[in-house]
Amino acid sequence: MCFRPPSTSGSIKCPDCGTQNASDAKVCENCGAELPDAPSVPKAPSAPKAPVVPKAPGAPMAPSAPAVPKAPK
Ligand SMILES: [Zn+2]
Repeated sequence: MCFRPPSTSGSIKCPDCGTQNASDAKVCENCGAELPDAPSVPKAPSAPKAPVVPKAPGAPMAPSAPAVPKAPK
C-alpha cells in the first residue's frame, strides 16, 4: 500500500471542528464534541461499492419495478 494518511498519528481530529486533539482525549478540547475512541486505522475508503447500473430511461427491458411514471419534460 502506498496510501498514507496525513500526519495525524498520535492525535484525533475532531469530526466536528477539525481540531487536533491528543490521542487519549475523549472529547474535543475546542468544541467538546465526542471523539472517536481509538485513532487506530481509519477504514479504507476503497470498499468496493455495488456497481451502479444506470437505468436507461425508457429502456425496453425494465428490471422489475414498474416504478414511478416519468413526467414529460
Ligand atoms: Zn471540535
